[in-house]
Amino acid sequence: MTLTIPFDNSYARLPDAFFSRQAPVPVRVPTLIAFNEDLARLLQISPGEAQEMAEVFGGNALPNGAEPLAQLYSGHQFGTYNPQLGDGRAVLLGETIGADGVRRDIQLKGSGPTPFSRRGDGRAWLGPVLREYVVSEAMHALGVPTTRALAAVETGEPVYREAAMPGAVLTRVARSHLRVGTFQVFAARGQLENLRRLTDYAIERHYPQADGPMGLLRGVRDAQARLIAHWMSVGFIHGVMNTDNSSIAGETIDYGPCAFMDSYHPNTVYSSIDRMGRYAYSNQPDIAVWNLAQLATALIQQMEDKEAAVEEATEIVHAMPDLLQEQWLTRFRAKIGLTRAEEGDQDLISDLLKRMAENQADFINTFRALAGDAARDQFTDPSAFDGWADGWTERLDREDDPQVVMIAANPAFIPRNHRVEQMIEAAVKGDYTPFHRLNTVLAQPYEDQPEAADLMRPPTSSEVVQATFCGT
Ligand code: AMP
Ligand code: MG
Repeated sequence: MTLTIPFDNSYARLPDAFFSRQAPVPVRVPTLIAFNEDLARLLQISPGEAQEMAEVFGGNALPNGAEPLAQLYSGHQFGTYNPQLGDGRAVLLGETIGADGVRRDIQLKGSGPTPFSRRGDGRAWLGPVLREYVVSEAMHALGVPTTRALAAVETGEPVYREAAMPGAVLTRVARSHLRVGTFQVFAARGQLENLRRLTDYAIERHYPQADGPMGLLRGVRDAQARLIAHWMSVGFIHGVMNTDNSSIAGETIDYGPCAFMDSYHPNTVYSSIDRMGRYAYSNQPDIAVWNLAQLATALIQQMEDKEAAVEEATEIVHAMPDLLQEQWLTRFRAKIGLTRAEEGDQDLISDLLKRMAENQADFINTFRALAGDAARDQFTDPSAFDGWADGWTERLDREDDPQVVMIAANPAFIPRNHRVEQMIEAAVKGDYTPFHRLNTVLAQPYEDQPEAADLMRPPTSSEVVQATFCGT
């Protein structure tokens, strides 16, 4: 059996200014940790022997048809423009067209230095690689658009962070790695031909119906609005919503310091570098609008009639908060069992969330329990729930099958931070059992799985993860 990947590499056919050709840098002893067979099937990849896959997905051997390159981009990091970022520790091997007809990137992350590495070593350690593997696949199973994980490989080399850690490489799959920052870099440099070329490429690949740059802007707006509302509904906090981590295809990308909320509070922040709470849970919709405004600013540079373009782009961006709110309301209605839209729904949902915040109610378990009769136990003062439930029960009389709606909208299982940390601790000691178990359970997040009840439990006070760190 030989590993075969049916590459068709459109990005490598773009002008040289878009990337730097760069092969992955070989590692000492590549060992395959995980290979995602379901995803491989979708990508029309036929797997090979474990050793061959370790060589390829560790970066020691180039598969036939690969044209490795590091992509150029820039971006706003915490609101400040950085004129050059780019793939500093990743290379795009190429693209395949899946069994579903969708073109996807196959990228190695942690594959060694590139011309964009700045002061970084181009590597990743095992922790963030396993974290991204588990969390991105969990997001996929939850139904949230996301990049995915095809493989994880240990390198047999140390990576130096606070201490020497085992090195690893993740194979990431994405509808594309085009970001807001990919547009920003050409706009900022006044390279209008490249900007136009990129715009055409993005339209053809992701929004074939779009009529030019403003149509693209509209497409990205709608996809991002859907995405962020979806995050909110599962309690996901991205943690580093910089414009270079904002996908044009509308996927969740870059699982650095991301985290799922345990007890609900709108101001929740985990990322150790987000001191001002810029990317706090409830700020995410506003930040998505801010990021879209940066894309608008970049796209406008290529327009002939600037004044008209500014007017149209402003209108497009200004419509985003309402679109997001609409998406949010639809998702949260479903979470409390509502399919019809009524005037008071927004207030009903907000009232529940307020009471949850005041009572340290666990976000996931409270909503999941709404379909049963134990939701009140999630509140430090259960009567706070009862006070809300009266109005809710009355409202449910005008719905057909709220239980079914709630079960489908409220997962039982998410990758809880303390479980992810425990999984990493075990893996560093060579025990991958928790890693594989998490993947198995999280593949069916809406199913009751009594044998995995321990993975539903919120952290005890000693297990609580106070801060998460950037995935370097
Ligand atoms: P991120 O915070 O992961 O979105 O990364 C921001 C920028 O830093 C990107 O250009 C990355 O490629 C780069 N970067 C992050 N970690 C490393 C590393 N270990 N070596 C080189 N570049 C890195
Ligand atoms: Mg990034």
